[in-house]
Amino acid sequence: DEEVAEYSRGLAIRVSGLEVPRPIKLFEDCGFSAQLMGAIGKQGYQKPTPIQCQALPIVLSGRDIIGIAKTGSGKTAAFVLPMIVHIMDQPELAKEEGPIGVICAPTRELAHQIYLEAKKFAKPHGIRVSAVYGGMSKLEQFKELKAGCEIVVATPGRLIDMIKMKALTMLRTTYLVLDEADRMFDLGFEPQIRSIVGQIRPDRQTLLFSATMPRKVERLAREILTDPIRVTVGEVGM
Ligand code: ADP
Ligand code: MG
Repeated sequence: DEEVAEYSRGLAIRVSGLEVPRPIKLFEDCGFSAQLMGAIGKQGYQKPTPIQCQALPIVLSGRDIIGIAKTGSGKTAAFVLPMIVHIMDQPELAKEEGPIGVICAPTRELAHQIYLEAKKFAKPHGIRVSAVYGGMSKLEQFKELKAGCEIVVATPGRLIDMIKMKALTMLRTTYLVLDEADRMFDLGFEPQIRSIVGQIRPDRQTLLFSATMPRKVERLAREILTDPIRVTVGEVGM
């Protein structure tokens, strides 16, 4: 309706896709747990950024998303907060193994930043986050994964190494995030990404975030996402 259109225009949000949930104005509109609201407050986040206003209701509704917004716009919380909700919603059927949520990022530094942010939101719910990128020995990493976790934050190469070592399976993974997808392509990770995606059940929820959206990234997105909603904030390059 007109009010939503005007609100979105004001935030420079553009969407395409079927039946797009309306953007939110406040974190209170998301139905988050008290623990999650506490963690958001502790981070000093008073209100959602534009990408969060539109991405949070989309992802919380279970839809796939292509999110395009420049660096520094708050994309991490846009995928981590709904991931916590997704994990808390899982029935506790037969203590299966392996992460429920998997986040892939192009570099160790980026993965580490996501890991730190994910831990802050995961901790109040007792959700375990494992870091799967260089910096820890493969043996240490293997042991940590064997001990179990609900979220893995990984670089593609190291995640594949760990899968080959049978440190984890992704049989119960139902929430996959590909962050900084454009940079993963620039760094030549397309085959690794395809291999990882191919090992995750097709009924997963898939989120792809990027600062720019070159053709080849758009093409991959269309292949591996299901009825995605595309959200762009501000002006975005190809
Ligand atoms: P991006 O992934 O889009 O580059 P980040 O998720 O790294 O952006 O967020 C950039 C900065 O903004 C981080 O320091 C983060 O803690 C902060 N931030 C994220 N969401 C909010 C918010 N709602 N209010 C205030 N600061 C926020
Ligand atoms: Mg980011």
